[in-house]
Amino acid sequence: MKTEIIAVGSELLTPDFQDTNSLYLTAGLNAVGIGISFKSVVGDDEADLARVLRTALARSGLVLCMGGLGPTEDDRTRETLAKVLGRKLVFHEEIEARIAARFRRRGLPMSPSNRKQCYVIEGAEILDNPHGTAPGLWLAAGRRRIALLPGPPREIRPMFEDHVLPRLAGSGQGPVLRRILRLTGLGESAMETLLGPVYATVPPDVAVTTLASPGELSIRLSSFGRDSRAAAEARLERLVQAIERVLGPYVYSRDGASLEAVVGALLKGKGLTIACAESCTGGLIGHRLTDVPGSSGYFLESAVVYSDRAKTKRLGVPKALIEEHGAVSAPVARAMAAGIRRTSGADIGLAVTGIAGPGGGTARKPVGLVYIALARSQGVAVARHIFFGRREDVKFQSSQRALDMVRKTLPKPPRKPL
Ligand code: AMP
Ligand code: MG
Repeated sequence: MKTEIIAVGSELLTPDFQDTNSLYLTAGLNAVGIGISFKSVVGDDEADLARVLRTALARSGLVLCMGGLGPTEDDRTRETLAKVLGRKLVFHEEIEARIAARFRRRGLPMSPSNRKQCYVIEGAEILDNPHGTAPGLWLAAGRRRIALLPGPPREIRPMFEDHVLPRLAGSGQGPVLRRILRLTGLGESAMETLLGPVYATVPPDVAVTTLASPGELSIRLSSFGRDSRAAAEARLERLVQAIERVLGPYVYSRDGASLEAVVGALLKGKGLTIACAESCTGGLIGHRLTDVPGSSGYFLESAVVYSDRAKTKRLGVPKALIEEHGAVSAPVARAMAAGIRRTSGADIGLAVTGIAGPGGGTARKPVGLVYIALARSQGVAVARHIFFGRREDVKFQSSQRALDMVRKTLPKPPRKPL
């Protein structure tokens, strides 16, 4: 039996509001072993909502529908579902009494518009709402079960936990487990090509989805098996290892952790400190590193050395070197990394210099050209990259490659066994 979620509200179809409730419901349902097959967002239009409800009831055994239970004219979910099911709406005095008491506590008269919320679809159970006026409804229609829930997050959450989840006990499959692999340093099509042979071995009860943005890829594995948690974990771990066999060097995280967190853990584990000299990233690397709690244990500083003068004055990059090679060049990147390492006293000096665009590019030095250098006691390494995209994409990819360069110079901690 499929499960689906319907979010009702015209505001959810504008650029200003997002249907966040469904993410919350999905997490709660997944935790008891119920996967979601469909999600819809529909505006406050009775005909549209009726169509979405009919479709849902034709294909799903469990339908969670939220929003549109309010007192205003555009809230039509209750009435529409009653029509779709061909059932009457029955006035319940005890709901009216409860709503009236709620208003009395605040010293206000109950508004006539709230009378709407006292109607219950014939045969439905009432789900109490201590945080608002609209009660929820729980209905069975043949083998299908339907929940009507209020839209405001502070109302739907307790109602879902206190009244919906207990009614779903035992209807899940096995636990839904998830693993998120995060990768950087290759493109989406290259990843898909390398993943080809792995896709052929994915068990039927595991879903694999990939997500790509400039500089960042993720592979999400979800197990929907009916067996035990241990079996599901082992199944996902085998798949993670198969993916790592083909994509190993690009995988920086096997549990969804961010690159800055992974790099931070490696630095902390080795007892090393880092300092950055950032030109085109404008402090983004320092920002990302300091997003990680506890980063003061290894991050010393990030100098935003945007001008040529700052590179010379702050880091001691020779003026002549900049004049000879240009600020965006391998020799200047190396001198920046060595300079920040020397002046900060950090174990690792990381430097970025590049052309973020959209202007400033030439045939020899195009927009997106970025040099990243890493200085350690053993010496200085430098890498040349060309990144595509908008200014913010070039900046992000530069920070990503710089952090990944640190990751790759540090030895990996041992893997936990299967
Ligand atoms: P309603 O129950 O349709 O009167 O919704 C009341 C309020 O709840 C809306 O104005 C939204 O701010 C919020 N809301 C409704 N649906 C959702 C949703 N799916 N996700 C997050 N917030 C919602
Ligand atoms: Mg609404």
